[in-house]
Amino acid sequence: MNENRRSFLKSSMGAVALVGISVFGGSIISSCGGEKAPDCNDLSALTADEKKLRENYKYVVNSKEAGKQCSNCQLYNAPATEKDCGGCQLFKGPVTKEGYCISWALKQA
Ligand code: SF4
Repeated sequence: MNENRRSFLKSSMGAVALVGISVFGGSIISSCGGEKAPDCNDLSALTADEKKLRENYKYVVNSKEAGKQCSNCQLYNAPATEKDCGGCQLFKGPVTKEGYCISWALKQA
């Protein structure tokens, strides 16, 4: 193999490697936490009383009530970004847009 051909192959492989990093880098980064979905079940920051209040409202992460979920509730605080969980005006802690509790109230336009 002559020197020119060897040099060309080396630079080509470098370019292929860079393309691979840019194509797959996003998924690697996301699997490492860069685009990680929020854990809206983590109640570790809440006190026992705060957890009890959530239970009293019978909050569930996934609503079983047709047409009723936190995202269309008047008391829902939508997350600032997709990396955050939503919240509720009635109690502390994370709330999912698919969630539900007994105080659901249709969001007014
Ligand atoms: Fe969700 Fe209930 Fe809060 Fe409405 S009141 S946002 S349904 S937890």
